[in-house]
Formats: sequence, C-alpha cells, structure tokens
Amino acid sequence: MLRQLEERFATYEACRDYLASLRWPAGFVCPGCAGSEAWRMKRGLWLCKACRRQVSVTAGTIFQRTHLPLTVWFRAMWHVPSQKNGVSALGLQRVLGLGSYKTAWAMLQKLRRAMVRPGRERLSGTVEVDDTYWGSPEAGLIGRRTERKALIVVAAEQNGGGIGRIRLRRVPDLTKRSLQTFIAQVIEPGSTVCTDGLQAYKGLVHYKHDRRVQRDQKDGEHLLPRVHRVVSLLKRWLMGTHQGAVGHDHLDYYLDEFTFRFNRRTSASRGKLFWRLAQQAVQVEPAPFHTL
Ligand SMILES: [Zn+2]
Repeated sequence: MLRQLEERFATYEACRDYLASLRWPAGFVCPGCAGSEAWRMKRGLWLCKACRRQVSVTAGTIFQRTHLPLTVWFRAMWHVPSQKNGVSALGLQRVLGLGSYKTAWAMLQKLRRAMVRPGRERLSGTVEVDDTYWGSPEAGLIGRRTERKALIVVAAEQNGGGIGRIRLRRVPDLTKRSLQTFIAQVIEPGSTVCTDGLQAYKGLVHYKHDRRVQRDQKDGEHLLPRVHRVVSLLKRWLMGTHQGAVGHDHLDYYLDEFTFRFNRRTSASRGKLFWRLAQQAVQVEPAPFHTL
C-alpha cells in the first residue's frame, strides 16, 4: 500500500493536483475575490481571471511556504496516522530520511493542527464527562487545582458496553463556567451527561444529567468507566510514544492527535486516514514556524 502511494504521488505535480482536488472540489475558488475562473500557470500557480491574483494551491494551508517537497509531506501524511501508537519526531525523521530533527518536529506539529476537523459535529446519546491532569505528579500535593498541572476535560460517548467518539480539551480551571462551556461545545443538547458529584456540573441545562456520586472510594473508578479508560490510554500514549516529554504549551495539539487517532481506531483503511488528514490539511490555517 505504501508502494501504491509512492507510485501515485511520486511527483510534485501529482501531489499538487490531489491537493487542488481536495481544496477546490467544485473547481478553483480565488481566496482574494472568490472568482471561479483561473488560468493554470507554471510551478503550480493559478492566475485568477477576475483579480489577476496568483494563487498557489498550498497558500493558506498547512503546506504554505514549506521548504519540503510535497512528496515528502505526502509520505508523512501516510505514515503518521497509520502507526497505531503514533510517531515521535525522531521516528518521523528516520522514516522520511530528513536531515534535521527540528524539521521533523515542525512537520508533526503542523500535521497535528490538521487533525481537528473544522466544524466537527458534537457527541450525542449518553456521554461521560470527567477531568484529569497532565504534569509531573508531585508528592504531597493533593487537590485538583495546581499551577504545575494542566487540567484536561474528557468526554466519552457510550456505545453499548464500549466507547464511541471522544473529545478532549485543556481547561484553565474546574469552574462551572469552564466545564459547562466545554459540555455545550462538544455535546449535543438533549443528550445524557454523566458526571461525578463535582458542584461545577450542577445546573446543567439542555441536558439530562446523570450525576454519579462516589459512595465508596475504591469503586470510584467504575462510576465513569469510559472516561477513565480514555484517560489511562491517553497517559500511556503520552508516556510511551512521547516519553512524557510534552510541554503544556504544546499539549493541546497532542490532545488533538490523540482524539484523531482514537476516533478512527477502528478504521480499517489506512487510505481513508490519509485522505482525511490531507483533506483537513488544506482546510486549516497555515502555522508559521515561530508559532509552533
Ligand atoms: Zn481573484
């Protein structure tokens, strides 16, 4: 399959045309004037007939001003989502034969930005919600609020006895405002939301609220079994593939990558993962190196 991909996207032109078909499925659209007619020029440029703007298919996407050949990007888009446990920058550098670690790292950061689908739909049905943290656990520090830990809220859909789709987000605190804003943004109104007894979840409107209060500390884990499973997989992934070396400033993008992988964990087709990532890559804003 990798050979098929390498044959199909062996040239810059093949990659460029593929991106153009994803970006402009119904034909060229000028980002300047929304004009729909253009002349094809050399070096992958389109010239808008209406405003005479020169448009590159990669402008305004994660590939904007890239120094790497598109063929290398395509191999990365194939490799990154298809590895079950994800890829570290060092691993990607090796696979693609890149000269610098920094380049591989920046590439991964950009691909992570393409792992959030713009305008994706909300979870529905019965959804468990709970919080966790990321950071070095410090002995003697008790309590959910601390400066050095990043707080993460997790929502996991119930799918029979298993887990459906998930959403993860870093929040500044565990106030009612933070938690209920998250719920409103990721869960469809009318759904059943299962939480623990935290006061901040009280007064949820537009949802059926299933509040599960811990009676016995030892059984606490099983009150929200799906989010707890997701949290343990997340931590294992951060500790394993990335050796725990994930700073708080980049954590959001790792959460996006984890979510992307998890929600497509049963997708049998690697080709579909590649297509999805490429499709989203032309929809998200470019991220200059200094912003990574
Ligand atoms: Zn134009």
